[in-house]
Amino acid sequence: MAANERIKVTIRCKRCGDRFVLKGRQDKGRIDTGFKQCVCSNEKDFIIETKCF
Ligand SMILES: [Zn+2]
Repeated sequence: MAANERIKVTIRCKRCGDRFVLKGRQDKGRIDTGFKQCVCSNEKDFIIETKCF
């Protein structure tokens, strides 16, 4: 198993419903996308789905 997996991350904002599809990396269970916040200033209410390539 690779230490650094490339994944597709779908982030849905629970406040405004906006959706972001990002490419990220999963490193030892930690997801790294560089995503900071939604356009509505929401920083933590998200539904996050990940998919391996
Ligand atoms: Zn939002």
